[in-house]
Amino acid sequence: MKALQSEIERRGRRIFELVDKHPEALFSKAGFYQRLMALSMRDERFKVQLFRFVDVLPSLRGSRDIVEHLNEYFSDNGFGPLINAGVRLAGVVPWLSGRILRWNVSGMAHQFIAGKNPDDVMATLRKRRAQKIGFTVDLLGEAVVSEADADEYAARYLDLLEKLALDTKDWTDPLGKNSELFPVVNLSVKISALYSQMNPADPADAITHLVPKLRPLLRRARELGAFINFDMESYAHKNTTLELFKTILTEAEFKDWPHVGIVIQAYLRDSEADLRDLIEWGRARSTRFAVRLVKGAYWDYETTKSLQNSWDCPVFFQKPQSDVNFETLTELLLENQSIVTAAFGSHNVRSIAHAQALADELGIDHSCFEFQLLYGMAGPIKQALVEMGYRVREYCPVGELLPGMAYLVRRLLENTSNEGFLRAKFAESVSAKELLRDPRELVKPDGAIPPGSPIPATARNQHRKNDASLDSAPGDVYRNSPLVNFVYKDSQDKMRSALREARSRFGEKYPLVIGGEKVWTDQLTPSVNPSAPDEIVGYGSEPGIPEAERAVKAARAAFGKWSRTPFEERARLLERAADIMERRRYELSAVEVFEVGKPWNEADADIREAIDFCRFYAQQMRRLGRPKLTQQVPGEESYHHYWPRGVAFVIAPWNFPIAIVCGMASAGVVTGNTVIMKPSEQSIVCGAMLMQVFEEAGVPPGVLNFLSGHGSVIGAHLVDHKDVDLIAFTGSREVGLKIWESAGITRPGQRELKRVICEMGGKNAMIVDSDADIGEAIGYSIYSAFGYQGQKCSALSRLILLEENYDRVMERLIPAAASLRIGNPEEPGIMVGPVIDEAAYRRILDYIEVGKSEATLAYQAKDLPPHGYFIPPTIFTGVKPNMRIAREEIFGPVLSVLKVRDLDEALEVANGTDYALTGGFLSRSPDNIERVKAQLEAGNVYINRSCTGAIVGRHPFGGFKMSGSGTKAGGEDYLLNFLVPRVVTENTTRHGLAPEQTPEYREEFLWPKLQ
Ligand SMILES: Cc1cc2nc3c(=O)[nH]c(=O)nc-3n(C[C@H](O)[C@H](O)[C@H](O)COP(=O)(O)OP(=O)(O)OC[C@H]3O[C@@H](n4cnc5c(N)ncnc54)[C@H](O)[C@@H]3O)c2cc1C
Repeated sequence: MKALQSEIERRGRRIFELVDKHPEALFSKAGFYQRLMALSMRDERFKVQLFRFVDVLPSLRGSRDIVEHLNEYFSDNGFGPLINAGVRLAGVVPWLSGRILRWNVSGMAHQFIAGKNPDDVMATLRKRRAQKIGFTVDLLGEAVVSEADADEYAARYLDLLEKLALDTKDWTDPLGKNSELFPVVNLSVKISALYSQMNPADPADAITHLVPKLRPLLRRARELGAFINFDMESYAHKNTTLELFKTILTEAEFKDWPHVGIVIQAYLRDSEADLRDLIEWGRARSTRFAVRLVKGAYWDYETTKSLQNSWDCPVFFQKPQSDVNFETLTELLLENQSIVTAAFGSHNVRSIAHAQALADELGIDHSCFEFQLLYGMAGPIKQALVEMGYRVREYCPVGELLPGMAYLVRRLLENTSNEGFLRAKFAESVSAKELLRDPRELVKPDGAIPPGSPIPATARNQHRKNDASLDSAPGDVYRNSPLVNFVYKDSQDKMRSALREARSRFGEKYPLVIGGEKVWTDQLTPSVNPSAPDEIVGYGSEPGIPEAERAVKAARAAFGKWSRTPFEERARLLERAADIMERRRYELSAVEVFEVGKPWNEADADIREAIDFCRFYAQQMRRLGRPKLTQQVPGEESYHHYWPRGVAFVIAPWNFPIAIVCGMASAGVVTGNTVIMKPSEQSIVCGAMLMQVFEEAGVPPGVLNFLSGHGSVIGAHLVDHKDVDLIAFTGSREVGLKIWESAGITRPGQRELKRVICEMGGKNAMIVDSDADIGEAIGYSIYSAFGYQGQKCSALSRLILLEENYDRVMERLIPAAASLRIGNPEEPGIMVGPVIDEAAYRRILDYIEVGKSEATLAYQAKDLPPHGYFIPPTIFTGVKPNMRIAREEIFGPVLSVLKVRDLDEALEVANGTDYALTGGFLSRSPDNIERVKAQLEAGNVYINRSCTGAIVGRHPFGGFKMSGSGTKAGGEDYLLNFLVPRVVTENTTRHGLAPEQTPEYREEFLWPKLQ
C-alpha cells in the first residue's frame, strides 16, 4: 500500500510537471469567462445569480429583454462595481450590450461545446487527432417531452454516426497497439433522450420502448466499426440504463460484439455492487465490454432531490468518499481487465495517477485502457497524459446553445465547486502534495458531514427513519415521511405483491363502526374498480337515518371523556395510526390503485400524506394543547387555551381517498372532538381501511365512528343535526355551498354555532412567461393537467400562454400530451388512468362536447383501453375567459389553453374566476416572479413547478373565494378550526401578596380529578 502511494505521488508529480508547462487557460486571469468564474468562486450568491442568468439567456430574443434580465438578476445586489457598471451601461446602450452579452455567453458555452453540428465538430476532432487525442461525441438535446422529440433525436444520432464514420474512415489508432479494443468512432448516448415516458417504477416499459430504438443504432455502429457508450444520468434512470444495456447486448445479434460501454458513477453508494454485477454479466456473456468510470455529474441534483422527497441519498456526502470509491472501482476494473476495458473519466490527477500506478502494478499495458476527459476542461492534463504515452479520449458535446444549457451549467458548477479538483489545482494553486494525498485519510469517521459542506443540516438525519415527533420540541420543524422510491426493485416487487394481495380480497364486505361496534345493515353498497367496472373491490354497509342517529349518540357519549383526555395521549394515538399506515403502506396504496384508479406513485403519495397528517397534527397539538400565560403581570395569571368543539362530522371525497379523510378525522380526534367519519361512496374500502388503522391504534369506542354511505341519505341529516357541532367537508362547490348555508341555521336544542370547514374546487391556472424554460413548462403543465386524470382539486385546467410564446409552447405541448401513457394504473408507470365512475365519465364527455362547441379541439387522445371509464386527455385552444370550459370545474383530463397579450392580461385572466385554489407561474424573470407571487389570487401559488402535490407542513393547502373557507390543511393553524379558544384569569394576590413568578404554561386545570 505504501509502495503504491509513493508510486502515485511520483506519477502525480510527473503529471504536474508536464501540466505546469502548459498553463490552463480557463483559469487564467484574463477574459470574460475567467473573470466571471473568479467572481463566482468568491461569492456564492453571485454564482447562483450568474448561472441562472446564463441559463435563461439563450431563450431571450431581443436585446432589451436581455438587458432587463441583466438588471433583474444583478442590480441592487451589491455585486460590486464591475457588474454594476455593466448593468448601468446596458441600460444606456441596450442594443450593444445585449449583443455583447449574448456573444460572450455563447463564447463561454463554446468553450465546453465542441461544435454546433456534426460538420462543425469535425474541425475540432481533426485538431485533436493531430494532438493524438481521440473522441467520443455526445449529442446535446433539450428535455425530451414527447415521442416526436425522441424519434428526432434518434435520427440525429444515426446521422451523426454516419458522418463521423465517413469523415474518419482513414484515421488510425494513436497508439497503434491493441487498437481493436478502441474503435476510432465513439458515440455517447443518453437513453432518456430516446424515450419520453421513462418512469423509474417501470424499467420493463422503458426497455420495451428503447430496445427497438437502439437496435438500428447499434446495428449500424457495428457495421461501421464504431463504438457506442451508454452514458449515465440521474439516479432515477440508473437501474433502467443498466438493465437495458444488459438486455440488448445479450440479444443474439449483439452478444458477441465488444464495442459497447456503459458508465459507472463512483459517487453512488451502490456503484460497487452494480459494477460487480456487470462484470459477472460480462463473464456470462463471454464478450468484452467497456466501462467508463466517473465520479458523477449530478451530485447537487441528487442531494436536493432526495432531501425534498425524504429519501436516502444515493450519493456519498463527503467528496473524499467518492474519491476512495473511485479508486476501489479502478482496482475492480483493472483486476477484471480480461473481460472489461476500462476508461477512467476524471480530471483529478490523484485519481488518474492511482489508475496508472495500479495498472503498472498489475502488469497491464498502457494501451489496454484509456483516460477520458471533457472537451474544454483540463487541457494541460490531456496533453500531459499523451506525452506520458497514455491513451486519451475527449468527450465532445455537439449541439446548439439552447439545448446545451443544462450541460453548460453542470460544467460551470463543476469548475467552481468548492470541492472540485480543477478549482483547487488551477484556481487556488493547492500544493501537489496536498492534491495527491490518499483520500482515505481525508474521510471523516461515520460518514460525518464536514463543516462548510453544501449539504443542509437536515440531511444529517436523512439516514434515520423518519421518527415520530414524540421527542421533538413543540413547534419543532416537521420532517415528512419519505415517499416510496420506486426506483428500487424491492419497492416495485412489494407493490406488485400488494396488488396481488388486494385483488385476492376483492368483494370483501366492510361494516359500519359505531361506538366501537361493528354494525352491518341489510343493504350493501358495491365499490367498483373504475379500470374494470365489472370488478367489485368491496362492499360497504349502507347506513340509514337510524345508524346516523346512533353514531351521533355514540360520539356525544364519548365526548365527555375524550375531551378531557390529555392531549399527549391523543397525539400518541395519531402517531400509532401513522406507524400502522407506514407498516401497511403498500397494502393501502394497492387498494387505492383498484378503488379509485390512482397510479402507483400517486397512491403512495396519498398514504404518505395521511401519515404526515397524523404525525404533523400530533406535533401541532402538543404545541397548542398547553394553556399558555398571556402576560407576566404580578398578582394575576391569565391562561389562553383551547377546548374541543364537540361532535365533528367529516365528509370526504374519493380523490385522495385516505389522506383527506384521515387529515380531517385525525385533526378532529387529536383536538379532543369526537368524530363521525364519512368517506365518499366511491372509496368506501379505503375509508374502511383507515377505520381499521385507527381501531388497531386503539381509538376508544365512540371517538371515531365510521359511516360509509350516501351523502344524499345521511349527509344532510347529520349536517343539520342539533348535536353536530362541526362539519369538515372537502368536495364539490355545489355540495359545499349547501352545507355552508344549511349549517348557518340554528336548530332547536342546538348548543353551538356550527363551525364549517369547507374545502371546494378550483379552476386553476398556470401562466407561462415568455422567458420560461419550454421543456420544463411543458413537463409541469402536462403533469399538473393530466396527472391522476386531472381529478385533483389542485389540477391545472387553464394554461395561459403569452402571445410571444404561444407557438413555441403549443408545438411541443400537443406531442407531449400525445405521448402520455394511458391505461390501467395497476401497471406501473401509467400516468393517465380511468376517471372515478360512470357519472364522472359522462359529465366530462359532456364538457368535451361543450368545449367543441365553444373553442377549438386541438388534441384528443385516441387509443384508450376498451373497458373502464377512460377519458382521452383533451386540449382546447382558442379558449376565451368567459367560456364555460374556462369557468366551470371539469375534474377530468381536459385542458383549456388561453392566449394573452402580456403578463397584465395573463394575471387578469388567471384571477378572473370564482375560484382561488392553486395557481402556477413558469418564468425566469425575477421581477415577474415577484409580481406574480404578490398578485396571483390562489391559496397555493407555485412558481416554476407543477401546481399539484402539496406536502403536509411544507405547503399548507387550501384556497379562498369559491374554493374554500380559507383553511389550510397540513398547516400550523389548521387545528384551531376544531377548537374554541378560552382564557382563564385568576387574581393571585392576597392582601397585596403575590407569587413572584407565574409559570409560562399550566395545564393542571385542563385535567381536574373527576369526583
Ligand atoms: C469523459 C467523461 C465522461 C463523463 N461521463 C459522465 C456520465 O456519463 N455521467 C455522469 O454522471 N458523469 C460523467 N462524467 C463525470 C462528471 O461529469 C465529472 O466530470 C466528474 O465527476 C468530475 O470528477 P473529477 O474526478 O474530474 O473531479 P473531482 O474534482 O475529483 O471530483 C468532483 C466530483 O466529486 C463528486 N463530489 C463532489 N462533491 C462531493 C461530496 N460532497 N460528496 C461526495 N462526492 C462529491 C462529484 O461527482 C463531483 O463531480 C464524465 C466525466 C468525463 C471526464
